Amino acid sequence: MTPIHVIGGGLAGSEAAWQIARRGIPVVLHEMRPVRKTDAHKGEGLAELVCSNSFRSDDSEHNAVGLLHHELRQAGSLIMACGDANQVPAGSALAVDRDGFSDAVTRALEEHPLITIEREEIAGLPPESWDSVIVATGPLTSPALSEAVLARCGEDALAFFDAIAPIVHFDTVDLSKAWFQSRYDKVGPGGNGKDYLNCPLDKDQYDAFIDALIAGDTADFKEWEENTPYFDGCLPIEVMAARGRETLRHGPMKPMGLTNAHNPTVKAYAVVQLRQDNALGTLYNMVGFQTKLKYGAQAEIFKMIPGLENAQFARLGGLHRNTFLNSPKVLDGTLRLKAEPRLRFAGQITGCEGYVESASVGCMTGIFAALERLGRDIVTPPETTAMGALIGHITGGHISRENEGGPSSFQPMNVNFGLFPPAEAPKTGADGKRLKGKEKTNAKKLAMTERAKADFAAWIAPLQPE
Ligand code: FAD
Repeated sequence: MTPIHVIGGGLAGSEAAWQIARRGIPVVLHEMRPVRKTDAHKGEGLAELVCSNSFRSDDSEHNAVGLLHHELRQAGSLIMACGDANQVPAGSALAVDRDGFSDAVTRALEEHPLITIEREEIAGLPPESWDSVIVATGPLTSPALSEAVLARCGEDALAFFDAIAPIVHFDTVDLSKAWFQSRYDKVGPGGNGKDYLNCPLDKDQYDAFIDALIAGDTADFKEWEENTPYFDGCLPIEVMAARGRETLRHGPMKPMGLTNAHNPTVKAYAVVQLRQDNALGTLYNMVGFQTKLKYGAQAEIFKMIPGLENAQFARLGGLHRNTFLNSPKVLDGTLRLKAEPRLRFAGQITGCEGYVESASVGCMTGIFAALERLGRDIVTPPETTAMGALIGHITGGHISRENEGGPSSFQPMNVNFGLFPPAEAPKTGADGKRLKGKEKTNAKKLAMTERAKADFAAWIAPLQPE
């Protein structure tokens, strides 16, 4: 049988190669290290973890990434098997011995009779003779390949990361302080003049907020990021605050055209606006609040904003150099490049974020490519599963409003419950009393994860190798 080629032996490429080979199909895995290095990888092992050694929470009942762990294990994942075998103590998180983990992945792939590993850079579009290729070259894809892909799909830029703004879970915003209103009650397409959530600050609160921003601890730039320019119109808020105390009040925090519904006679001194981030309305992003403050500082400082005192963040802001595709525009529903369908994409380059998410997209892409090679129909995972929610975000297939509104606003994201459709959850506990607070939230999460597990099991069963 003609092999499937996988370019990039990171989290996604390693998993994709494994999923293909376990379905009886030969694979050639092309990894450029150690021949050519990246700016973040240190060694030559496959599936190297470039930063933390954590796969995050392993709680598959109340945590979306824990649910991805469960789904990957159900799918016979190599990444999870090696992670589990190399676990180090980390509470409810799954953390691994990074070298032991990478060695185990490398060994398993090297020893598989259907997998050949070539240590070489693919410095451009792969040869025409390769009829099925998975590109899993990650956020640090070598320039020769990224430029070729870019030219092939006719995009101005593959992407380059600038600052990203935090995203908040809607149900953690205090609506006794925040109110819905578009600036000047403007009605946009599909809107009703109430498209934004507004959080008001008086002068003292604004001053305290600016002081905290200026004093806030910012993430250190890696050497190779130092020359990355900021995007115009996308300056980190702490950089704007340092330019002048009033800069933010004339920029993203301007109070004009807004009347506090809870206190109409008092004009707010400044306002933080949040915009709906997904069609379900479960996530809101902080408009213009891109930042490179350290995560701890962000959580602390943003909770000074009235209405966000108890906010929980689906994503915190960050600043990286990062390459990713404008996937909702250039990829089809099974992650093929529309302009050249023999090329499939996997991992962080598709616009997911994180090790486990990248491995999950690698898992799906490997299964899709294998099914195609075997002449079978490709069925994507249901949107109620963690993998389905993730591919929905990437391809803009079913739920991301940002993606429908304009693929140019597409941003990478970790898996989170805001990407799932709501599930029916019990309203009362075993004692018959109405559930409140954390118990209520946990019941909702449990309902989602139980539904996901059942739906994933039904999806994966007929796709397992014979
Ligand atoms: P990678 O794991 O990066 O794998 C891509 C592989 O492709 C690499 O081995 C590379 O050498 C190879 N390659 C590139 N170009 C070519 C080519 N042309 N030919 C052949 N091979 C090629 N995520 C987390 O969950 N936690 C973290 O703490 C974290 N920290 C990060 C820190 C940095 C500095 C960066 C850049 C990313 C970080 N991430 C983190 C995100 C992380 O990169 C991804 O989660 C994950 O590694 C992406 O998996 P991937 O398989 O898509 O890419």
